Amino acid sequence: MVGIRGTDSRTLLQNLRSTLAEDGDGQERLDHIAELIATGMGTDVCSIYLRRDSDTLELCATRGLNPRAVHKSRLRFGEGLVGRVAREANPLNTENAPEERGFRYMPETEEEALRAFLGVPIQRLGEVLGVLVVQDTTSRLYSDDEIYALEVVAMVIAEMQELGAFTGEGVAMSRPHAQPLMIQGICGQEGASEGVVFRHEPQIVISNPVTDDPEAEKVRLMDAIERLRLSVDDLLSTNLKDAGGEQREVMEVYRMFANSRGWVSRLIAGIDSGLTAEVAVEKEQSATRIRMMRAPDPNLRDRLHDLDDLSNQLLRMLTHQEVSSAEAAPDDAILVARNIGPGELLTYGKSLRGIVLEEGSVGSHATIIARAWAIPVVLHAENITREAINGDVILVDGDRGLVHLRPEDSVRSAFRDKIAMAAEAQQEYAALRSLPAMSRDGIRVTMHMNAGLMADLPSLIPSGAEGVGLFRTELQFLTRNAMPKRGELADHYSYIMDSAKDRPVTFRTVDIGSDKILPYLNASDEPNPAMGWRAIRISLERKGVMRMQIQALIRAANGRPLRVMFPMIAQFEEYRDARQLVLDEVGREKARGHEVPEDIKVGAMLETPSLAFAPDRFFKLTDFISIGGNDLKQFFFAADRQNERVRRRYDTLNVSFLSFIEQIANRCTALGTPVSFCGEDAGRPVEAACIAAMGIRSLSMRPASIGPVKHLIRRLSFGELSEVIHEARVRGDQTVRPAVTRWMETQR
Ligand code: PEP
Ligand code: MG
Repeated sequence: MVGIRGTDSRTLLQNLRSTLAEDGDGQERLDHIAELIATGMGTDVCSIYLRRDSDTLELCATRGLNPRAVHKSRLRFGEGLVGRVAREANPLNTENAPEERGFRYMPETEEEALRAFLGVPIQRLGEVLGVLVVQDTTSRLYSDDEIYALEVVAMVIAEMQELGAFTGEGVAMSRPHAQPLMIQGICGQEGASEGVVFRHEPQIVISNPVTDDPEAEKVRLMDAIERLRLSVDDLLSTNLKDAGGEQREVMEVYRMFANSRGWVSRLIAGIDSGLTAEVAVEKEQSATRIRMMRAPDPNLRDRLHDLDDLSNQLLRMLTHQEVSSAEAAPDDAILVARNIGPGELLTYGKSLRGIVLEEGSVGSHATIIARAWAIPVVLHAENITREAINGDVILVDGDRGLVHLRPEDSVRSAFRDKIAMAAEAQQEYAALRSLPAMSRDGIRVTMHMNAGLMADLPSLIPSGAEGVGLFRTELQFLTRNAMPKRGELADHYSYIMDSAKDRPVTFRTVDIGSDKILPYLNASDEPNPAMGWRAIRISLERKGVMRMQIQALIRAANGRPLRVMFPMIAQFEEYRDARQLVLDEVGREKARGHEVPEDIKVGAMLETPSLAFAPDRFFKLTDFISIGGNDLKQFFFAADRQNERVRRRYDTLNVSFLSFIEQIANRCTALGTPVSFCGEDAGRPVEAACIAAMGIRSLSMRPASIGPVKHLIRRLSFGELSEVIHEARVRGDQTVRPAVTRWMETQR
């Protein structure tokens, strides 16, 4: 196997590639490949193990072991030396296999005479698809060149597998992207829809893994790297011109990677051994991803993530497959992505039929936007970005957090029945539109809607909302690359007020920071952004943005009543200063000759537990309070709203949280402060009813929830519900949910 690197390796790869063009099924191809490798590398044995399911490897072809063991010999990940290679995703090179840790003798293979063993993972983008093994009877260690050569060959096998080269009778692998698949994730937003996959980042398809002309590949690679470097430089010199500190440092590291000689020379080495530029990049990317998974230090992981991101950009440049644009989305698009930020989602707009994310979280603002648009969302859909390709039929069952990819006809037709039933329920809710949310015992709950975009306003009348209880103004800032101008904002706010007619609209001043990053506002990289420099904290330090926004609101109101509230107020002084800023602007605008609102109400969001214990003068000074349950809950339980692992540990109906809500309601009543609740829980019928039972008689929710919440409230008695909650508390239940659910069953 001496001299395998370079020309010999290229010949071997070309021979492998020619098996792709040959007639015959996947098994013949695999047998031929094992033969080619053993001959090309001069080893006694070559065996190909492919992954059968999530953790089983199957011997699929061999030259040198007993052929009867093919498709019989199986190992789990971690089992034997082959399983160890798969689990560790690392080459294993030993001169005496039987003495190596974890060795397991497989009698059916008749490998007793073999000593030297070299196994490398067959992997694509960090995912192990199998293991490629060479063995010899003589005891020896394989050289670095031989290991490298086998890794390159394994890379080509991975690409061939992705192209569907090994499918057919008896072969472990089924054709990729062809089988129906059901993925269980979690519910981000209820609802069912059918459509076709539309990838936010289309899957990169590489049709030719092997090159005949390494020099031309190097030119293509260097050309793409040059473009990549220019785009990073451009980002640094324009968008981040004034960025300071950490953010700039991060980008400088990014630039350093793009210029790293080590990185480029590893890519060149891949091409020299016969890979096309794309596959050389993927090979490097696989190694980065494996290192990323193992890195104990989060800082190092972040840097490896940057490198992975760069490789992705490079791959897209080489294959001319850029990130999707909204215009390219088909009418029945279901967006599939690893994750998506609120700004990116806004560019796709309301017309998406569904959203399926591999990561994501219920508390993120992207999910909140999707909820406002009533688009079914499934989160944590494992492997969806690997499996789904553009145009695949996909069913999204938001209620159960389920995704059916390429479904069978029977599943598809049952699903259509479900969609039809949901449409019937909507009609029932629509019939309640003009009726009040009045309980059986005569308690009236005010129903407002949450909004953030012009496109939300048309839902006001059909939903039966009595006003807009929370207008998230930052969404307007998120959809742009630069700070919006005062005139534009004034036009926008004026449109919102016009559309609401005489119904009140509560504008929340910008809540940026946390997961709502505006690159043009120098958002810095913070360790805990949800608890960092965000919302009112930014507004009070960078007063210009808030002043401009208040001026725009005053001009938009043009004498009409105006309601403004501030996000993330944690103590009285913050509210007092922000309120003063509003009053000052009113004075200034008046002096400039603008008409000012005849009635202006200035409120605060209660999103931090501290504000519930503020001095009485806060409750007396503020015109109203709106409980932001999403943030309040995360700070109350110290559980990140974006972290699915901890977020779901704590129930909204936990007695501690409900008692806290009750305390706030009692304090507001005692001090005469109007209070409402505008977090996502206000739109969940059972939660909404319990919050109202605690004394909060004004709720603001996404428009689609108004019908279901009203429907429930009209059927129950708050007196009885309060009694059920009280009994559960006295009993010492941790959450009142079981008791409340049982009671609700009897109310049908
Ligand atoms: C909240 O925190 O409950 C809230 C309504 O604000 P946001 O979700 O925009 O942070
Ligand atoms: Mg909030």
